[in-house]
Amino acid sequence: MNLKFDLSHSKGYTSGSQIARVLTESWVKTNAFCPACGNNILNQFNNNSPVADFLCSECKSEYELKSKKDSFTTRIVDGAYETMIKRINADNNPHFFFLNYSLKNLEVVNFLVIPKHYFVNDIIEKRKPLSITARRSGWTGCNILLQNIPSSGKIYLVKDGLLQNKKAVLDSWSKTSFLANQKKESRGWTIEILKIVESIPNKNFKLFDVYKFEGHLKQKFPDNNFVKDKIRQQLQVLRNRGILEFKGNGLYKKI
Ligand SMILES: [Zn+2]
Repeated sequence: MNLKFDLSHSKGYTSGSQIARVLTESWVKTNAFCPACGNNILNQFNNNSPVADFLCSECKSEYELKSKKDSFTTRIVDGAYETMIKRINADNNPHFFFLNYSLKNLEVVNFLVIPKHYFVNDIIEKRKPLSITARRSGWTGCNILLQNIPSSGKIYLVKDGLLQNKKAVLDSWSKTSFLANQKKESRGWTIEILKIVESIPNKNFKLFDVYKFEGHLKQKFPDNNFVKDKIRQQLQVLRNRGILEFKGNGLYKKI
């Protein structure tokens, strides 16, 4: 993997946004691999494909690429809010590549993948509708909130200019790929409990440390009146998937 953009791809283009698009897309095509299966061949869809940008030739996973120059941000501007909500609830939603590059050095600084099963409604933020004087008055866009995704769902292939180990990337992917087979509601719970567990600074923690979030969870899932039961059930899910270990007496350990 070479972090530098290959500038030969941008010959003939004059618009800055087009140049950025061809450089970032050609970089992904040449350098990235499919984080779901490790295959090195990612085929590009035709431009303007409404669904995705890349297709793994092996496992057929689809990826959409979002790029941003200069500083890394946890809020990514995306298209129309309603379209996005519809898409993340559809089965053919692609996984999401996020590429952050240095315009000065024309090289990749951060490149990460967010598997589609981490896309739940609360990572999508509704922007203010365009004002009455705007050409597309009333149109409402959205932001993708990376900070609402647990770190297990942000898998870096390049982090702060450093290449990450390929096996570690594939292991990270497979560790939580079970989420893809969960129904949406229980997936929302598992992701929320994952986030809570990650927010506890120690490797060892108590059931009580998770119970402290009961109010927060009640707010998030107002229809559930048995939040503590649900917490224990979800901790069991994480144990069964090898993310936690039960030490007995309400003690848990992150693996
Ligand atoms: Zn693949």
